[in-house]
Order: sequence, then structure tokens, then C-alpha cells
Amino acid sequence: MKRRGGDRPGPRYEERLAAFAGRELSAPTPAQDPVNQPMIRHWTEAMGDTNPVYTDAGAARATGRGGVVAPASMVQAWTMRGYAATVSPRPGRSGFDELVDLLDEGGYTSVVATDSEFTFLRELEPGDHVCVQETVESISAEKKTGLGPGRFVTTLKSYRDQHGGIVATQRWRTLRFRPVGTPSDAGAQARTPSEAGPVPATVPVSARRPRPAVNHDNAFFFEGARRHRLLIQRCAGCRELRHPPGPCCPRCNSLEWDTVEASGRGRVYSFVVNHHPRHPAFDFPLVVAVVELAEGTRLITNLTGVVPEDVAVDMPVVLDWLDADPDLTLPVFRPAPTEAP
Ligand code: ZN
Repeated sequence: MKRRGGDRPGPRYEERLAAFAGRELSAPTPAQDPVNQPMIRHWTEAMGDTNPVYTDAGAARATGRGGVVAPASMVQAWTMRGYAATVSPRPGRSGFDELVDLLDEGGYTSVVATDSEFTFLRELEPGDHVCVQETVESISAEKKTGLGPGRFVTTLKSYRDQHGGIVATQRWRTLRFRPVGTPSDAGAQARTPSEAGPVPATVPVSARRPRPAVNHDNAFFFEGARRHRLLIQRCAGCRELRHPPGPCCPRCNSLEWDTVEASGRGRVYSFVVNHHPRHPAFDFPLVVAVVELAEGTRLITNLTGVVPEDVAVDMPVVLDWLDADPDLTLPVFRPAPTEAP
């Protein structure tokens, strides 16, 4: 497909986009494994779903089922390729690849998921073998959005069992958009409306937070945090700051480094409001943010002392410390006090 100068799409662009309606994006693809108890167990543990119909055959039979069933919302998990997808892409080009190329040609190079709507028709049981197929329902005309001009692409995934019967459908909508402004404006933010009250300033410890994976490269960061000092790794060769920590400078390849202490000022670069799964060590809704420090590096953190509705991209924030338990202190951020005139 030939690209013309800049972002100008080729001839008959609208027609070529419209031709995708009704088209199959991926041929029916069978799951790598049949529905099975170990995967169900991992899923329910991760989700904190203790309903025994997923793990205990007797309890499932007591509800009139033939035995254990898989959680309905797990349907997508059966057909995911997982790690293999990143190391051995499928050979050849799919309809999906062609659609992405066509959207790129129109300058719609960024993507953000907007909504997903499932319909479940029957419960899956161990031994069932699912297969998924995806078709384009519609591609909207160009719309103005806060992220930039874009088109909503709606597809329908159909999940079928080994007999060809549909067990679930998923209507999946993404916004493919042309990013506006500076590169930092281009970062897509995912935002979920919040349903409940404020995130408290201190998180009561009802359970221990998951431990960070501390290693030789990042130990300085967590040791600094214990002393309430936010440290940023700095290359000793070219002085570039970097985060997350690593052994080698991506700019000059130097293995030598030291640290600088951050001023503690920053801005919200992006954020999500997490509702589920509900780990007992956290309070929900939980604001998980990428904060860009005044020094330029970014880190993933939590925001405190602010209700999710009041969080905004670019909001100035200041460093605070969360002493989660005697062994774990983490940097968190709260809204910066409004400066006096
Ligand atoms: Zn360097």
C-alpha cells in the first residue's frame, strides 16, 4: 500500500474503509487448550472469586449443574495466545493487519479501547474447546475527540464451542485516533468513572501489600524510600536520568551510575481508576497514576488525598510517603497545594 506525502490518505479512502464492514478480521482460531480446571483455579484466585461452582464439583452439582463450570467472563482468556504471541507472531497477514495499515494511512496511528460488551449464552465446562472469530461491524466517520480526531472501530468476536454453537459474543470498540499536540499530549489515557468515595490519605494495613521484586539493580530505590528519599538513577557517563532502574544506560551503554534525589514535584501523566480485582491490602477505588517528575522521569504510583473524579491529566502533584508496613515504604503523590499569589 503506497503512502503519499505526510498523513494524506490515498485515493478512495472512505470507500476502502467502508469496505471493511462485515469483513472477517481473523479466521476462526481455536484455543490452545481445552477448558480446564487449573486455568479456572488460577483465574478465580487472581480475581478473588470464591464461588465454589468453579472449583468444587459437589457444590456445582448442588446448584443443578453437571459439575464445575468456568467463569463466564473468562471466555476471552481461553483463546489468548499469551507469551507465544510476543515471540512467534502468526505467519502471513490477517485482515486485522490490513485494517491497521489502512487506519495508519489515514493518520489514525494511536488507539484507545472505549468499551466492551459481552453476551453469554451458555456456561463452559472442562473439556469444552473454544474458538474465536472476529468480524468488523462498523467504522465510524471521523469524530472530534479529546484525544484528537478519530474513528470508532466496532468489531464482534464470536466464541464458539467444539460443536460450532455460539457460547458468547463480545462487541469490542476502540477509538483509532490521530494524536494532537506535543508527544506528551499523545499518551492515551484510560479513565474509568469512579463509583465510590475518596481515596484515603493513608491506607490502613489490613493485609500486606504484594512485595516488589527487589534486585541488585533496583534495591537503591526501595532503600531510599525507606529513608523517605525518592532517588532517580543517573548515568555516570552521559548524566541521563532513567527509571525504572536498570544496569545499563540505554543512551550511551555505560554500566556506571549514581543517583540524584528527586525534588518531589511532578504532574499526572496518565492514570486509571482500579476497581477490580480487590486485593485486601488496597482501598478501592484505587487511583493508579503515571507521574512525570519535574526531573523528567516517570514512575507508576498511587495518588492519595484526592477523589478519583478530581484527578486530571497534567494535574500538579507532590511527593508523599506511604509506610505500608515495617518492611515497605512507597512513594505516593497527592495534589500540589495551590500556590499563594
Ligand atoms: Zn549514559
